[in-house]
Amino acid sequence: MKNFLITTLRENPQDAVVSSHKLMIRAGLIEKLGSGLYHVLPLGLRVIRKIENIVREEMNRSGAFEFQLPLLVPAELWKETGRWTLIGKEMFRLKDRNHNDLVLGPTHEETFTHLMKSLIKSYKDLPINVYQIHTKFRDEIRPRFGVIRSREFIMKDAYSFHVDEASLEETYQIMRNTYRRIFSRVGLETIPVEADTGAMGGSGSEEFMVPSQIGEETLLINEDMSYRCNVEKAPVIYNHLHKEISEEEIKFLQTHIKKIYTPNIATIEDLAKYLNKKNEELLKTLLYRIVLGENQEKLVMILIRGDRQLNETKLKNYFQAIEVYPASEKDFEEIGSVVGYAGPMNLNTSIPILYDLSVATRKSWITGANEKHYHIENFHPVLIDKNWSQYLVDLAIAKAGDLDPNGKGVLKEIRGIEVGHIFKLGQKYTKAMDFSLLGLDQKRIYPLMGCYGIGINRTMATIIEQNHDDKGIQWPISVAPFEIVLIDIAKNQEEKDQVEEIYDSLLKEHFEVLWDNRDVRPGVKFIDSELIGFPIRITIGKNYFENQEIELYIRKTDQKYLVPKQELISKLQSIREFLFSLLPNHDL
Ligand code: ATP
Ligand code: MG
Repeated sequence: MKNFLITTLRENPQDAVVSSHKLMIRAGLIEKLGSGLYHVLPLGLRVIRKIENIVREEMNRSGAFEFQLPLLVPAELWKETGRWTLIGKEMFRLKDRNHNDLVLGPTHEETFTHLMKSLIKSYKDLPINVYQIHTKFRDEIRPRFGVIRSREFIMKDAYSFHVDEASLEETYQIMRNTYRRIFSRVGLETIPVEADTGAMGGSGSEEFMVPSQIGEETLLINEDMSYRCNVEKAPVIYNHLHKEISEEEIKFLQTHIKKIYTPNIATIEDLAKYLNKKNEELLKTLLYRIVLGENQEKLVMILIRGDRQLNETKLKNYFQAIEVYPASEKDFEEIGSVVGYAGPMNLNTSIPILYDLSVATRKSWITGANEKHYHIENFHPVLIDKNWSQYLVDLAIAKAGDLDPNGKGVLKEIRGIEVGHIFKLGQKYTKAMDFSLLGLDQKRIYPLMGCYGIGINRTMATIIEQNHDDKGIQWPISVAPFEIVLIDIAKNQEEKDQVEEIYDSLLKEHFEVLWDNRDVRPGVKFIDSELIGFPIRITIGKNYFENQEIELYIRKTDQKYLVPKQELISKLQSIREFLFSLLPNHDL
């Protein structure tokens, strides 16, 4: 350790708010350079390399091939797929000396598709799964939590190519299992959850989530964890939906619909209070702009129950839109409406209206009258459109307490950090980049693709989120910077020689041991060993020099043993085995 750069700190860095960030800085694993930019120090790099090697071993075991592609990518590739304009400021762009546009790769679908197009000449070469473990750049709006969201980070990104759906499905399943093995081996508990597939639809996407208070993702799970879904995707299930309204009911509505005076009552909450109703008896009217392409936008009205929130991802997918965003006050005015009193009746233009499923939970509603201070009661969409139920779609955010789509009770919400993502891409990239092959029957086919990412640095940080206490990190043995730290309290040269002899015998047995032979007080060594989080600590001190007994300490379980010198090796071996047995199982 004397020859190793140990830069531990006693104080938390000022800008760190989450445990992993604080501990990574304090243990001397990383050092900040700028916003979202971190130096990896030697101790930290040992962890990164171990995670990378586990990922590499499992990817190779699955049959994937490792590559290394340039980080700088010519803009032409991104123009072919349209993502040059579709991806916003998150992508770092630059020009070379000849004024050519380049991208610092935020992901590599384009580059790998381009490369495979030139390498793969026959359908017989498929399926193939190719990957790299390399740097990615993203100019994140809000880099934060240390390396959990940084602007430069390491990703394992894999891309598979297939002649048909069955082959893609096979590799997708292999990757699901590979991910389970990887996260298990690095000591990380993850929950695979169904994720949004965007315009692709279907069930072809899973995110591997680390449950955590600081997670940016909201997950919905049922009691026995058989249902696990990102809130972006989770459907909302209602007990009863009334999709048919009888002639009698329509008559009733027609004769009872009326304007009501609601002075200065412009929010659902105020309206509920004023009318002594529940939020779920009121209809909310939203106005959204849907971006379908360059200079191609439309205005849409969405009706949703007063107690429900709009899920913008669902709205975006419904229109296969590039982006959706709330309309402006001016937009309300232009259609003859008023913010706070908006509704579907008496507009001066006809605009498309979508009804969230929740609209079918009642047969009569209170909604805005498009006139300041007024609402309407006994409204139902059938009054303005007989075919209203065709525009009845699930657009709401699912939440805790909602019915489990699998029919097992209700859902609960947890927060999660996404560490990995597997995704069926289909032919999006091969078609855009014109990568086709002659298939078995001499027909041209565009290969189907899958993509599979894991954030290496984020994985490292989340392992710490899950494995620490107030003294420091508790590394799972598989990714610890060193498995063992050896601390000696030798007082003279003779004792030092005895320690060195033991240290050498450990090295000879191939134990990964770091000897803390620094000229610092033993107290400092103990504190540092717990901060850095070595899984096993060997102490050679008074017990040894007087009784030939060596102290072993397991960081994770806080267990201590005194063992005679001749049993040291076998005891260490069994502790190692025990620590490997603590790694989580992944059977979800
Ligand atoms: P997020 O929603 O957190 O931004 P993403 O959906 O953009 O993630 P992907 O494009 O699927 O992420 O990238 C694959 C993996 O790369 C993620 O699962 C995550 O582990 C990692 N990753 C993505 N962005 C970052 C970042 N800014 N810093 C560190 N790791 C990242
Ligand atoms: Mg992102």
